[in-house]
Amino acid sequence: MASAKNLNERMQVYQKRYQKLTARLSETGFIWPGHIQRRYLTCGKPNCVCHKDPESRHGPYAYWTSKENGKTVSRLLRPEEADLLEQWIVNRRELEVVIRQMKDLSKKVVSVALKMQKKAKMG
Ligand SMILES: [Zn+2]
Repeated sequence: MASAKNLNERMQVYQKRYQKLTARLSETGFIWPGHIQRRYLTCGKPNCVCHKDPESRHGPYAYWTSKENGKTVSRLLRPEEADLLEQWIVNRRELEVVIRQMKDLSKKVVSVALKMQKKAKMG
C-alpha cells in the first residue's frame, strides 16, 4: 500500500497540472458555438458567368452553422462578423481541449483522493 507521503506527492503533482489547466481556462477569450464555412455560390441571373464557370462563382460567403436544441441553424455572416466569430470559435475549441484534459486528469486523481481520505480517517 502507498504511503501517505507518496500519496501527498502524487496529489501535489496532479494539483500543479490542474492549476495550469485552470489558468488556461481563465485566459480564454469569448467563445462561440458551431463552425464557419466559406462557400462560393451561383447567383439568380441566368446569363451570369458564374453558371458556366465554377471559378467565376460569387464569394466567398461565410456561413455559420450550429446545433441549437438538436436543430441545425445556419446563417450568412458579414465579413467582419465572420472574422470575429472565427476567433471566438478557435477559443471555444481550445477551451474544449482544456476541459477534456481536466476530465482526464480528474479520473487519475480520484483513486489518490480516495486513498488519502481513507488514510486521514484511519489517523
Ligand atoms: Zn452570378
